[in-house]
This record gives sequence, C-alpha cells and structure tokens, in this order.
Amino acid sequence: MENREAKLKEYAKLLVEIGLQLRKGQTLVLTSPVECAEFTRMCVNAAYDAGCREVVVSWHDGLCSREKYLRADDSIFDEFPEWLEKYYNHYADIGAATLHISASDPELFKGVDPNRFVRADRAAEKPLENARHKQMANIIPWCIAAIPVPSWAKKVFPGCPEDEAMEKLWDAILTTMRITGDGKAVDRWKEHIDLLNKRRDILNEYHFKSLHYTNSLGTDLTIELPKDHLWAACGASTPEGQVFIANMPTEEIFTAPLRTGINGVVYAALPLVSSGNIIDGFHFVVKDGKIVECHAEKGEEYLKADVALDEGASYFGEVALVPYDSTISNLNILFYDTLFDENARCHLAFGEAYPECIEGGQNMSPEELQEHGLNYSIQHEDFMVGTADLSIVGTTYDGKEVPVFVDGNFTF
Ligand code: ZN
Ligand code: ZN
Repeated sequence: MENREAKLKEYAKLLVEIGLQLRKGQTLVLTSPVECAEFTRMCVNAAYDAGCREVVVSWHDGLCSREKYLRADDSIFDEFPEWLEKYYNHYADIGAATLHISASDPELFKGVDPNRFVRADRAAEKPLENARHKQMANIIPWCIAAIPVPSWAKKVFPGCPEDEAMEKLWDAILTTMRITGDGKAVDRWKEHIDLLNKRRDILNEYHFKSLHYTNSLGTDLTIELPKDHLWAACGASTPEGQVFIANMPTEEIFTAPLRTGINGVVYAALPLVSSGNIIDGFHFVVKDGKIVECHAEKGEEYLKADVALDEGASYFGEVALVPYDSTISNLNILFYDTLFDENARCHLAFGEAYPECIEGGQNMSPEELQEHGLNYSIQHEDFMVGTADLSIVGTTYDGKEVPVFVDGNFTF
C-alpha cells in the first residue's frame, strides 16, 4: 500500500510537470469527481509545489448528474447559466491551465433521453465559444487523465470482486502511465515523446495526398488530407511555448482529414462509450466526407444522436495512427473509456478538427479553418478502427504509393 501511495504521488507530479508543464504563477482549474478526492488532493499539492498561483477545484458527482438528466425540469436543458459562462471565460481569459480528472461508470447515463444531451450541448455552444476555441486552438494548456472508481473497474473486470477489480484497474492505468515506482516516469515520458515526434516528422515529410484503409472487418475507406495539413503528436504548444499533453496517456499521431474528402465504408473495431452509453458493432458509410448511413448492433439511437448534433457532427475531424503493438494495446483490456481505448487503436473522430493540424491554424478564425478544409462542430467523438490486420497505404502528390501500416503496425 505504501508503494501504491508513492506511485500515486508520482502520477500527480507527472500530470503537473509533463501533462501541463504548469508554470510558476499560473492558475490551475481542476475538475474532479467527489469520489476521487484523495488523488485530487495529491494533484493540488503537486500544483502548489510547482509554484501554482491558485488551484480552483470544481467538484462534481456522476450520480447527481445522472439524476439531473433523468429528473430535472425539461426547460433547463435549453439554458446555460450566466455565472457558469463567466466562470469558464474568466479562467480561459487569464490563461489558466485545466486538469480534468476523469472517472465514471461507462453506463452512467443509461436510459437518459439522448436528446437532453444534444440540447444541453447546443445551449452551451455560444456561451462557451471563447473558452472552447482557446482550448481547441491550444491557446491555454489542458490535460485529461483518469483514475479508477468501483463502478468503472467492475465493468472492465466483470468477473472480479470490487477490491480486486479496483487493484487491477489501478495497475493497468499506472502501466499506461509508465509509472513503475522507481521515480523515473518523467524520464520515460520524455523518451516516449521523442519516438512519437520522430514518426510525426516522417509523416510530415511524406506529405500524403490521401490514405487508403482496408481490413477484414470490411473497412475500405479513402481519406484525403488538406493540402497544408500537419501531423501532430502529443506535446501541443501554447503560443507562449508551454508544451502540454492534452490526453494522458497518449500513443497517437494525428492530423485532420479534408472535410469533403472521405469516401467508403468504415467499421468500428471496439465499442464506443458516448455520454455514458455503450455503442457497439457499428459502421458508417461515408460519401464526400459526410456520414450518409450509420448502423449499430447496440446503442444505435445514441450513435444517431451523436452524428446529428449539428451539421459538422456528420463529417470527420481527426485521423489518428496508433500501432497495434503498443503499450496500451498490449494490455489487451477493453477500458470502456475513450481516453485509453483510443490510444490502443488507430482511430477517427467525427466532429471538430484541431487547428494545429493545419499550417498556421492556431492563428486562424473558425471560418478560415473551414476555408482550409477543416471541419467545424461542437462535437468531437473518437472511435476506434485499428485491427491486427489493418493496412494503410499513403499516396503522395506525385502518385507514389507508400505502405504506412502493414498488419496493424507502422512500417517505420
Ligand atoms: Zn485522437
Ligand atoms: Zn480525438
């Protein structure tokens, strides 16, 4: 147990030092479920150790949120309180860093009317436009990381008693975070970041016009990339040069597709957990970038609500490459949490593209980004497409075909 506490302190320090590269005098907004109070206190300590000006903790509780979505008066889902608008925009405007501790039952919102999420998201769009843009364009640093809670652990390890399931999920998460208890996780992360950056540079050198995905699930998809696209890896940078990692752990190298340049069929390789609901066995038919058909064996109504959130939600915003043979994938655990599952597999996202995926994108307005072929939406939902037999062939502007993935892994 003593060893576990040391590992958790190392995890908290890793989030502050590598996840956010928190600066002296910077404010930190920390959101956390009440169930994670013990770990959250460690993060607060690590932040003050790093010279944080103030840590503002915003507590929430999954079960209370569930009751709200089930039982609150219907009118509230079309409103966004003014004080919350001021709260988010104030901290975005002073350049505060944000750390989200994520931990919840994957099926927390089972049975909730999907329309209530759609309306709540739409009601938040205008009030949060400024704060959202500052986050999407990497103007302010942010990081999401997860810790176990019993309702989640029991879903991941259904055959185990609660205590054992929690232990196993902790072990798995600490492995993905490269924490072994020797105090050297920060160094291991620096090495890991170097490898991701090396592959990112190779992809940028090829400057592909398009990528062609095929596998035995039935995926046969061609993805065109914008002319001035850029591949990115972890380690986004604010305009002031504060390098942060938006998702910890991370194994991906990603870019944006050309909004109208995707055609074919794509099958999901893993279930997707969206707003506390499991969607499984699904595929999309895509024409000129738009999802024209979507089918799911489980949770189809939630999937349909997700892609109908706004116009851009039925177009794609991210193309991410993750080797089948990598740290999270090799654990062979279905986490029912996108943070982990997306880093086990190649994935795509429908919804908004990241401005950093285009040259000069961080300084462009949402309208300019769209003119350069990037998709805009208030949606951004990753889903996993990578399999052990996934093949990806890149085509360059002079017509050369280059194998990028063979049998689920990078060729370089
Ligand atoms: Zn991604
Ligand atoms: Zn994504």
